[in-house]
Amino acid sequence: MTRTRLALLLTPLLLLAAAYAFRAPLAMRIAERGIERSLAAEPFAALPDGISLVLCGAGGPLPDPKRSGPCVAVQAGKLHLVIDAGSGGARNLTRMRFPLGNIDALLLTHFHSDHIDGMGELAMLRWVNAANTTPLPVLGPPGTAQVVAGFNGAYAADSRYRSAHHGDVVAPLSGHGMQASEFTVPAPGESVVVLEREGVTVRMFAVNHAPVDPAVGYRIEYRGRSVVVSGDTARSTSLETVAKGADLLVHEALSHEMVGAMHRAAEAANRPIIAKVTTDIPGYHSSPVDAAKSATAAGVRQLLLYHVVPPLMLPGMEAAFLQGVPEAFSGPVTLGVDGSLFNLPAGSDAVNGMPRAL
Ligand SMILES: [Zn+2]
Ligand SMILES: [Zn+2]
Repeated sequence: MTRTRLALLLTPLLLLAAAYAFRAPLAMRIAERGIERSLAAEPFAALPDGISLVLCGAGGPLPDPKRSGPCVAVQAGKLHLVIDAGSGGARNLTRMRFPLGNIDALLLTHFHSDHIDGMGELAMLRWVNAANTTPLPVLGPPGTAQVVAGFNGAYAADSRYRSAHHGDVVAPLSGHGMQASEFTVPAPGESVVVLEREGVTVRMFAVNHAPVDPAVGYRIEYRGRSVVVSGDTARSTSLETVAKGADLLVHEALSHEMVGAMHRAAEAANRPIIAKVTTDIPGYHSSPVDAAKSATAAGVRQLLLYHVVPPLMLPGMEAAFLQGVPEAFSGPVTLGVDGSLFNLPAGSDAVNGMPRAL
């Protein structure tokens, strides 16, 4: 072997060894640059005016690395809304550079733990991200005030610590926590306006998550564009009525076949609790095909599946989850993951899937 060849072989190895030896200062420098860039970025401000919708949590209560607890964030004109605050949702919003401090309201669909267990974190981050001087408004069906009071109590000490430590520049005490507004759930197929501001209208409607009651979904409209978020529901004619002609339907989906397989496995393994739960849950959730049928009945342009249950861990499971869906709905269907992002520009019919925000 010539010297040149030997040098060519050794140089990359020496460079690698040097990089390894200096990995700590190198990583610190790269991280600093990354933080600088991240703090300067405002990706949501750069999106075209209209409605933008991002999944801050595409999953349900079971752990799935691609899908956090249910959470949908909407930027409609100047308004920023979050629908449900599942576990991990607020952290995903932080990573996406969603303007947390500008959240105008949190909308609750119902009070199952997986939809509310990130509320405390969301309210705290919204407070200190923009030194908000008023609590986060939380809109929802009757029962919202009790949930909000519980979180406010649990976070009372945290709020005092932060306010005393950082002062009004970061944490003015008047802005901590949440403020509830409850709305009577209208009859099935009807809707009630819960928010109207800056050209944005938000309507609440009943869905069918029996025996859980109340359970609602929301329709958000801005400059001729519209999105509907189902919350948790079995196939619902109420939703199909209120979602008529929407541009994007964000609908929950639970695979009855896969939960059935979990049930058989639980029985075989003599796990009676899992066997009971897997018997109970399919009845109050929609299958992916149910969601697709609702999309067809409502005549929506696109369907985005979220609250995906169970976790889809193996290659091929996503295809299995979507079996029968293209036959039930002829429009585009997206199986949501954390960061799935759509932009609906005002003055057009387009529903643009964007590069994922995570
Ligand atoms: Zn749920
Ligand atoms: Zn639920």
